[in-house]
Amino acid sequence: MSGAVAPDASIAPPPALAFDRVSARYGRVEVLHDVSLQVPVGSVFAVLGPNGAGKTTLLAVAAGLLPTTSGRLRVVGNDVVGLDATSRARLGICLIPEGRGVFPTLTVSENLWMMTHLGTSRSEVEERAFARFPLLGERRFQLAGTLSGGEQQMLGLARALTTDPAILLLDELSMGLAPKVVAELYDVVVRVTTEERLTIVFVEQFARTVLSVADRAALLSGGRVVQVGTPGEIEDELQSAYFRSGNTPQGKAP
Ligand code: ATP
Repeated sequence: MSGAVAPDASIAPPPALAFDRVSARYGRVEVLHDVSLQVPVGSVFAVLGPNGAGKTTLLAVAAGLLPTTSGRLRVVGNDVVGLDATSRARLGICLIPEGRGVFPTLTVSENLWMMTHLGTSRSEVEERAFARFPLLGERRFQLAGTLSGGEQQMLGLARALTTDPAILLLDELSMGLAPKVVAELYDVVVRVTTEERLTIVFVEQFARTVLSVADRAALLSGGRVVQVGTPGEIEDELQSAYFRSGNTPQGKAP
């Protein structure tokens, strides 16, 4: 008789990210209050909410750029409170902050070559990036600053993906882009990340556009979670949340 213990199929895998009553502050001002939410592994998770809701702060806390003041935060079951950003990157977290994170006076290829410090060769880095985003291959000799906004976002993503992250945190990918370009960009991002079984957390102001590609979403307001649910459930709550804040949810109808 074998002494091996069969895995218990009833035990669910830990979520990619689990916030449990997390609070955070800038100086003396608390801006996240008792936030609890779970991002399942492999999900496309949208974090929505009006200006100042705390969306960017939530990503900064997850990435280890801002400490929690109370509560628990786990990354794939690992308690990360007290871990710095580098240690969290080793657990697979990758934050792409607002703005495009590319060097405008370098070519597309040169931007990618900067990621060879992780030990991957230039040709490998290029090969992977161009397989994910064929358009970047066509533009390889072009200066990044002359790419369109959407293409620059793709290049920023291609650079980030060379680090083989497990959880991608994207802050306002849509910044400065036309709604049509945003929708196309998200289609590409979701295709690439689902093919590679990544977990993605989007923070967005183009609420409806993102809801059409997300499989779960959270609505934040005033540093608190108003609701977590399916895109349909969040859609119902969106209008009133933005209305209370004086904003409007932007983007195409799903
Ligand atoms: P937006 O969509 O406008 O970017 P957001 O939902 O991402 O908004 P945050 O940027 O997380 O919101 O800001 C939450 C609150 O924290 C706001 O009241 C903001 O003014 C404040 N805040 C953000 N960054 C800082 C900072 N570095 N120092 C002090 N307060 C800050």
